[in-house]
Amino acid sequence: MSQIETEVLIVGGGIAGTAIARELSRYKVDATLVEKGVDFGQGITKCSSTMMCQGSNTLEFRSEYHNSRLVWAGMPLMAPLCQELNIPLKRIGSLELIKNQAGMRRPEKMIRRFNEYRGKYIPPEVEPIQLIDRETLRSWEPNLNKQFIGALYDPNIAVNDPVRLTIALAENARQNGVNILLETEVLGISAGIDTFDVQTNNGSIRCRYIINAAGEYIGKLAQMANADDFALYPVKSYQAVLDKKIGGLINHMVFTTENGMVSPTIHGNLFFGISPGTQRLGKAHDHSTDQKLADAAMKHAQELVPDVSAKDIINSFVGFIVFRNFEIGWHECTVGVSRWVPRFINASIGFPGICAAPAVAKEMVEILTKNGLRLEENPEFNPYREAMPDFSELSDEEKKKLIAQDPRYGHVVCRCETVTEGEIVEAVKRGARTLDGVKFRCRPGMGRCQGGFCGPRVTKILARELGVPETEVTKKGGESRNLIYKSKELLEAQQ
Ligand SMILES: Cc1cc2nc3c(=O)[nH]c(=O)nc-3n(C[C@H](O)[C@H](O)[C@H](O)COP(=O)(O)OP(=O)(O)OC[C@H]3O[C@@H](n4cnc5c(N)ncnc54)[C@H](O)[C@@H]3O)c2cc1C
Repeated sequence: MSQIETEVLIVGGGIAGTAIARELSRYKVDATLVEKGVDFGQGITKCSSTMMCQGSNTLEFRSEYHNSRLVWAGMPLMAPLCQELNIPLKRIGSLELIKNQAGMRRPEKMIRRFNEYRGKYIPPEVEPIQLIDRETLRSWEPNLNKQFIGALYDPNIAVNDPVRLTIALAENARQNGVNILLETEVLGISAGIDTFDVQTNNGSIRCRYIINAAGEYIGKLAQMANADDFALYPVKSYQAVLDKKIGGLINHMVFTTENGMVSPTIHGNLFFGISPGTQRLGKAHDHSTDQKLADAAMKHAQELVPDVSAKDIINSFVGFIVFRNFEIGWHECTVGVSRWVPRFINASIGFPGICAAPAVAKEMVEILTKNGLRLEENPEFNPYREAMPDFSELSDEEKKKLIAQDPRYGHVVCRCETVTEGEIVEAVKRGARTLDGVKFRCRPGMGRCQGGFCGPRVTKILARELGVPETEVTKKGGESRNLIYKSKELLEAQQ
């Protein structure tokens, strides 16, 4: 068991924790990030609907709320961040659909409010939202339900891959000097006068500041330090991913507050899900899905896009949005120093936390400075990160060049997503230790067959690259092994 000392301890390797770690690496500070999982972004971040730059078109966002100000501040930061880290970001725009004349009131109010806030709270570079009529809607989205009479168009909405962004933030933070410990779970915290003593499954850590970015578990972590001066409400949301073959059905994120949304993803699939407004409080940490939830979400999605069908679902899951004040909406976040325990800082947005993460990270620097941490710029900070090759996106010329350099790029392992052995090996070099680790870095298993064909091959490559038997390869760490025995091993043992 090790004992380490660090100035700032960040707990949680989701979007919030890794964005903060990367922001802190701009300064000469001894920072450590601990994540209990075997990889980054596998908590709530993995469940997100992947919408970026939200905030212009949501009445629930108001200037008096810290949450809204962070979301707005994050809007112009997302594109440059993705550029530095080499993460694709695609603007698709969103359409909030209007059913009838009475339904016009809300968008009109939003436009008035947007105009009032732009330049004051909403950064001036954020593009205006506007109403579009029935004909324009038809021409932009011919596969929509014909009942809608128009829409509120927000051109700012973009999609990216939040898990890849989280992994990229962690890679860049590590490259710039942050100490990162995976499979390290905080189990207890004792607050001293100037320091915290933190117990983990891998030894103890002494630190001066704790940043609690534990997502769904921020309440539990705060409780360990007697800093739980807030109440949280976990709201369960259902999401489903549809086959790429119907990926062209719509071009924008389309939604209503009652129906939830249907949207293209950055990878060419469609996504649908029930929005927070239509959800009920969930039993904390119950990640099960059931037919009732799935049927309700499908019915809502078909009311928007009738050709969406259950036979096209290739995966579905639930995630928890951690609301601060469920009764009145998604207004407030849990970002700031605990009122009860000095130097214990919470960092959870709830919704939409990916959009807000770059602004939360910047605010953490201010909070730490105000609370006595001296932050001197790190002259060696390098904001750039090289992307992994994405074979399926390359031109024929680029493919040939890559194969000539490394023939493993000529061996396609996952046929659904055209993922090569070369990419899987690169994913392992960059830190993938599990089937999910490989899947979230380069997508084998994300297609129609969900790993049915490529799973055994990826297992073989992972085992070879990690130097372990295939039976030791797991889906996501811990006991999640896919192979329990070597073929005929039991028979051999009996002989
Ligand atoms: C269905 C759904 C759709 C969403 N859609 C969007 C969207 O389109 N756009 C958007 O911006 N936001 C969206 N959100 C919100 C967004 O996903 C979250 O706000 C964000 O991912 C939260 O990130 P986080 O880092 O705070 O938490 P997490 O991603 O959960 O990270 C917390 C990490 O802390 C670790 N941890 C917990 N306890 C401990 C411990 N004791 N020791 C060590 N590690 C610990 C966990 O393992 C986890 O990895 C959505 C959320 C949901 C549920």
